[in-house]
Amino acid sequence: MQAEQNQNQSPPILQDLNQVRIAISFHCIRCNYDLLGLAGDADCPECGQPIRVSIYETIDPATKRLARLPKPKVIGNMLPLMVVSFLISAVWACIGAAVVSSHFASFGSLHLRLRDTDCFAVALAFALITFCCSLPILKVNKNEHLEGCNRGLLLICIGSFCWSVSMLLALLFVRKEISPQDMTVVLLDTLLPSLSGAMLFIGFKMFIPKIGIRSRAFRQAQYSRQRMNDLLIAIVVICIGRVMMATNHVDTNAYTFGSILMIMGMSLVLVGLCYTAWNTLWIRKSLVSPPPSIRELVRPIE
Ligand SMILES: [Zn+2]
Repeated sequence: MQAEQNQNQSPPILQDLNQVRIAISFHCIRCNYDLLGLAGDADCPECGQPIRVSIYETIDPATKRLARLPKPKVIGNMLPLMVVSFLISAVWACIGAAVVSSHFASFGSLHLRLRDTDCFAVALAFALITFCCSLPILKVNKNEHLEGCNRGLLLICIGSFCWSVSMLLALLFVRKEISPQDMTVVLLDTLLPSLSGAMLFIGFKMFIPKIGIRSRAFRQAQYSRQRMNDLLIAIVVICIGRVMMATNHVDTNAYTFGSILMIMGMSLVLVGLCYTAWNTLWIRKSLVSPPPSIRELVRPIE
């Protein structure tokens, strides 16, 4: 549907492909053969794929019509870096939480191999990288080049800063000596990080689709596009699980059910972040090495 629309909106030059040749190094989408110098209406000499199909699949007139971005490479590189560093930070925060709970639960011996403070220190380091990556994007966009993205970007900045602070607090105060039923610990090890994570995800929700319209792969992805609402629901599940653990004794079924909810929620968040990182790599590709326009790609045959 989208592809058809793109074809209908293509410049008239595409209707006269027999009068043009490929003017730059340009590869067949099926076999990667370099089509430089061939006529636009010919087929790929290697695999027979019509060259016009490769042209239609590569050029992206919809993106070319959007206003030019200042420093697209900065945004393109910082966006996946931001998501990936947050993913790594979240993985270590979850490992840290597992280490702490293996101290007082009957299951596991994770605390014999890893120290909770080390886990939270790694999580803090990557949280700071996330925060640092969000600053250049906010700076590039200070003049609102990306219409309506400032609030999303600001939320990403504040969310990643709060996440860093909550990792620091976890590093300083979450200890095995504290009982899992202590409500202050619940605040430090779950509620504060969850709140910061939720802020970050709402920021992603406001920003990523806006910048994503510049990537054809992102626009056309229906089911492989990560929905931030799923991640927000997962955060709620984590909080419910943690509160159930805090309000029930370690030996009860409710405690076990709470810990299952927590593990499920954490897994959902981590898998969702992997998908988000993959989505931002498409966006990076279209920002850092945008597809050629039809005018750059073909020249009339003399
Ligand atoms: Zn080919």
